[in-house]
Amino acid sequence: MLKGIAASDGIGIGTVVTVKHQEIKYEPKQVTDKDGEKSRLQDGIKTFLDKTGKLAEEMEKSVNAKDAEIMYGHIAMMSDPFMGQQMEEQIDGGSCAEAAAETVLNMFRDMFAASEDELTRQRATDVEDIKSRLLKILLGIEDTDLGALPANTILVTEDLTPSMTAEMNHDSVVGIVTESGGMTSHSAILSRALEIPAVLSVKDAVSTLAEGSRVIVDGLHGKVLEAPTDQDVAEYQEKQARFLKEKEALKSYIGKESVTADGLHKEVFCNIGNPEDARTAADRDGEGVGLFRTEFLFMDADSIPSEEDQYKAYKKACVALSGKTVIIRTLDVGGDKEIPYMHIPKEENPFLGYRAIRWCLNNPAEYEKQLRALIRANSDTGENLWIMTPMVTSVSEIKAVRSMAEKICEETGLPVPKIGTMIETPAAFVMADVLAKYCDFFSIGTNDLTQYIMAADRGNSKVAYLYNTYDPAVLRALKRIIGCGKDAGITVGMCGEAAADPLLIPLLISFGLDEFSVSPTSVLKTRAEIARWTKDEADRIADAVMKLETAEEVKEYLDSAVSRD
Ligand code: PEP
Ligand code: MG
Repeated sequence: MLKGIAASDGIGIGTVVTVKHQEIKYEPKQVTDKDGEKSRLQDGIKTFLDKTGKLAEEMEKSVNAKDAEIMYGHIAMMSDPFMGQQMEEQIDGGSCAEAAAETVLNMFRDMFAASEDELTRQRATDVEDIKSRLLKILLGIEDTDLGALPANTILVTEDLTPSMTAEMNHDSVVGIVTESGGMTSHSAILSRALEIPAVLSVKDAVSTLAEGSRVIVDGLHGKVLEAPTDQDVAEYQEKQARFLKEKEALKSYIGKESVTADGLHKEVFCNIGNPEDARTAADRDGEGVGLFRTEFLFMDADSIPSEEDQYKAYKKACVALSGKTVIIRTLDVGGDKEIPYMHIPKEENPFLGYRAIRWCLNNPAEYEKQLRALIRANSDTGENLWIMTPMVTSVSEIKAVRSMAEKICEETGLPVPKIGTMIETPAAFVMADVLAKYCDFFSIGTNDLTQYIMAADRGNSKVAYLYNTYDPAVLRALKRIIGCGKDAGITVGMCGEAAADPLLIPLLISFGLDEFSVSPTSVLKTRAEIARWTKDEADRIADAVMKLETAEEVKEYLDSAVSRD
């Protein structure tokens, strides 16, 4: 049995399909049979055009019209006789087909990248994409087709990226196993959003789990069973049925208010990544959106979305929630969220680097575009859109955001939306009392706050033992942040994954948290957990916990005082 992090609830029983990162590597060689090499190149280009054509047609059918357009653009570029001619000239000079294709495509890429015109510059990314797909064809490297996975697939991969999830046919995947990523990595967040059982950080999963073999993924306990016996399968089918029954029972909370056992009103909001998820949030009975991660909108595009495209997306989310609060976070690029076309240089310490609000305030034209889109969407949908800034470390950052937003509102005559900040850095926690003066609300990002307080990378399995929200250092921070927010009379929410942790819910009730923002699939469970506690009971648990000295002691205490198992 393999062990890892239980990242997404449920049991999956299926067949392994591995997705390996395929490195494009070849030794450039001098060729003598130039005609033979030219026909190898032409065959490669023909296969590229056939494959791309099919992909474009499939995308069109699956209403992915924008991506299909990009594919047709690739076809047009590679069908241009000038392109083939240039490559053949390289072969005449003695290059092999791979080197010829690479040299010419690099030349086009550099030419596009140097352009003054933004749209032309973005074509450099297309050329990079064409290059890697053409080279894979020439080298015979086969990529797993994530859009055509067989039924009952257990996807085994080094890491699950947002682009892989976009390609994947979700209905066929019954389990996910990855070699990296912790509870709050984006692989975990994505698998929970898709309700696919997942176990992450399983050492050597890709080489250990044989392609085509039967395995069981236990996303409840972080276990992967290789070659299960019929008895194992029967036992896990029973566990799966029990899990689904409990999930069914939670439906009695649909349409209910989120209240503690003694009637204190709370709110259970949802975390979403795109406007379509807003529909899911409403369907899952979310009382609002507590975090719309707009970076996914940027990742799904092939260039920075225009103000109009952003406006439409934000408006769509607000309309889907029909008048409920929608908290939209401005671009949180960087860290583990790479957006290739933005060409942000690689850094030694990306989580401590040029990311989120730092990038935005250094690129005011782009940031203004996003703020303007948000301000317009707020004004057009009944003024329930709140703007949230990520990764704030200094009061001057929130002041700068506010003054930019107010200037746009002055120019356009539109109302100023509520503006608040994520509290996810140690500096923001220490300065929470001062920050509260300039914010309409706080939302605690425990995913990052934990990694920064504990100085332990949230995705690094080697330091996962330190990355622990139960650590008294983190709990003290939570208590103080909520206290500062409450003292200033502003709403305090939490949009990190800890908001959905049943063990922490009594503590958060005791500290005074107003709003719990969780994945749409966790709304009912969170509401059920809130309903279990009176404020007095929650206070008693919190008093005991805050006297403890280590994460292990806290976990042990909460396991006995809170856990239902
Ligand atoms: C967080 O850091 O807790 C958070 C909600 O943001 P993200 O996971 O996108 O960094
Ligand atoms: Mg964060």
